[in-house]
Amino acid sequence: MKAILGGTFDPVHLGHLHAARRAQAALAIPNVTLLLAARPGHRADPLAGIDDRWQMLRLATRRTPDLLASDLEIVRPGPSYTVDSLSELRGTEPLVWLIGRDALADVPSWHRAGELATLCHFVVLDRPGHDRSVPFVPRGFEIVDKVSDLVERPCGGLFCLRNAMLDVSASEVRRIVAEGGDARALLPSDVWTYIWRRGLYRSCGGERGRAQP
Ligand code: ATP
Repeated sequence: MKAILGGTFDPVHLGHLHAARRAQAALAIPNVTLLLAARPGHRADPLAGIDDRWQMLRLATRRTPDLLASDLEIVRPGPSYTVDSLSELRGTEPLVWLIGRDALADVPSWHRAGELATLCHFVVLDRPGHDRSVPFVPRGFEIVDKVSDLVERPCGGLFCLRNAMLDVSASEVRRIVAEGGDARALLPSDVWTYIWRRGLYRSCGGERGRAQP
């Protein structure tokens, strides 16, 4: 199985890395690929540009053989549609798309959402503060009780990973930085340094007393 965590990574944070590692352990696979949604078609434009988000993702994964970064959606022109990436990545091994509870409900609005269940499994990641009851199940998917059940079929399974995830979000990181606060506890240290050096996410009023790397 090949597992992918897609995201805008605006910026990549410790919650992403932790979630990817929990999934990697549960699936008993050597690595997870973090795929940058370069030009997301289904949500507001990220604050940081593609190059900055890619540099941060590279910094976060450069010493982690278990976490790989993919620029597939940077290289492919046009909107970053998950269905296109899954079609491109499809090979002999089943694909597992890792997705947070919060993002699951948006799936029906994704481009050609009806085809997703013919291309991948979903592994749903809990997010602190989000309902942990029976999840919304996108069209074509079927809940499986055990992660090992995903191996039995090529695609269309949905497994809820019950591991505790970190209460970190990119929007919280952006808010803290915009207010001149210190977000280094939520980020890989190289990413915090990059944000600070590049002046990302700063708002006009948030300069005084700004935390330094
Ligand atoms: P934002 O706060 O801007 O919405 P985000 O923190 O959700 O950003 P994304 O890049 O949009 O970051 O997330 C990519 C994927 O990772 C999504 O499926 C999201 O639900 C999931 N995810 C993000 N943070 C966590 C976390 N702390 N634990 C588990 N999954 C997460």
